[in-house]
Amino acid sequence: MSRRTKMINKIKELMYQPKYIRNIGIVAHIDHGKTTLSDNLLAGAGMISSELAGDQRFLDFDEQEQARGITIDAANVSMVHKYKDEDYLINLIDTPGHVDFGGDVTRAMRAVDGAVVVVCAVEGIMPQTETVLRQALKENVRPVLFINKVDRLINELKLEGDELQNRFLKIIASANKLIKNMAPEEFKKEWLARVEDGSVAFGSAYHNWAINVPMMQKTGITFNDIREACRDDKQKDLADQVPIHDVLLGMVVDHLPSPDVSQRYRVPSIWNGDIESVEGQGMINTDPDSPLAVMITNVSIDKHAGEIATGRVYGGTIEKGTEIFFVGSHGKARTQQVGVYMGPERINTDKVPAGNIVAITGARNAMAGETVTNYGTKIAPFEGIEHISEPVVTVA
Ligand code: GDP
Repeated sequence: MSRRTKMINKIKELMYQPKYIRNIGIVAHIDHGKTTLSDNLLAGAGMISSELAGDQRFLDFDEQEQARGITIDAANVSMVHKYKDEDYLINLIDTPGHVDFGGDVTRAMRAVDGAVVVVCAVEGIMPQTETVLRQALKENVRPVLFINKVDRLINELKLEGDELQNRFLKIIASANKLIKNMAPEEFKKEWLARVEDGSVAFGSAYHNWAINVPMMQKTGITFNDIREACRDDKQKDLADQVPIHDVLLGMVVDHLPSPDVSQRYRVPSIWNGDIESVEGQGMINTDPDSPLAVMITNVSIDKHAGEIATGRVYGGTIEKGTEIFFVGSHGKARTQQVGVYMGPERINTDKVPAGNIVAITGARNAMAGETVTNYGTKIAPFEGIEHISEPVVTVA
């Protein structure tokens, strides 16, 4: 069996096991390293060649599409990551990195359960970091922190032990202030970013390494070793010892919730219907046999396949060749194909159950923000998305 076929089979298996799924977004202030990190995660997980990561921007790179004849949809990429002997399906939803991102970040946040907040160690928490973190928390999306560009603190700013530590502590404290203010009541403590439990990682997306406390314990690598490696031009060794995808995807698996865990607390806050109803309980339990409930988060046009609607399946199972109903616009359409992602590629699977990110072909006239169910079924819509475009509170 080819590697590709094996991977497709693995994804088809994992999509039925919500416990092994993580739906995440990477959010950051512009230039803090979101694109570099996304590329290197995909390359590290073997989903794109490493030559394409880094210098060449993968997520907005469409020449590769022509070269390989595949469909690239920047709205979503997926990877399989082995962690502690188990395979996980990690769906990474793209969030726009521009200042006037309007509602797109919010929409992406609606599809995910967790977020990696990338903060440049040199600049620290910037207004847009606050906005995106706030947006995540408002959608009950759990954050973890990645402090990036640590190589620059060492090589350009020449920071030493305590100075380095203080810089990190300040960033973490600012993030935690927001988390404490905005996380759901029951998670205000649990969701705090903590160095000691590994929900904060440090590294260099550009040089492809990262470290957190669990990884320090496992490898014996200390901050001193990191300082030396940066100074002595040995970051390549660090990338071999503590590759960024291993550390960050491990952090994602350990700290960000799977859909079956997060839907229990997220659905009551993002869906307008009666939680005790059949469809309400279906979503609470990530039940593939309950009435269909999909929230469309992105619509793009594919040269070959036409309109592709990407969305999060919260309840039921969406199937190919069925009539679907748009709850808001009262429109209907027939799904030509439904599938999930493998790297940047869509793979058709005929069915996609609750807990996953689906790509729907043929969902004509679908709009981001729409609630989709099966034709003839009645469900309440997901709540309208409110945008946060200005930070309301400034974190010192
Ligand atoms: P985005 O706007 O958040 O997507 O940021 P990019 O990934 O495009 O990165 C912005 C710039 O910072 C690029 O020139 C990257 O090469 C650079 N960069 C990203 N991560 C690091 C890092 O860890 N160390 C250094 N020195 N540069 C980095």
